[in-house]
Amino acid sequence: MMLLLKCPKCKNRMKYNSTGLISEKNKKRCVYCGHSYKVRESIVQKS
Ligand SMILES: [Zn+2]
Repeated sequence: MMLLLKCPKCKNRMKYNSTGLISEKNKKRCVYCGHSYKVRESIVQKS
């Protein structure tokens, strides 16, 4: 499943390819500013 995430720090959007269920523990490192954030709380759009 392809998700669209929004970095809470720099507000940039990026794609995230999930390989199953997204748990609370899943984190993504922002490709723009390097900030790590929780995937689940930053989903903008599911496709
Ligand atoms: Zn960022």
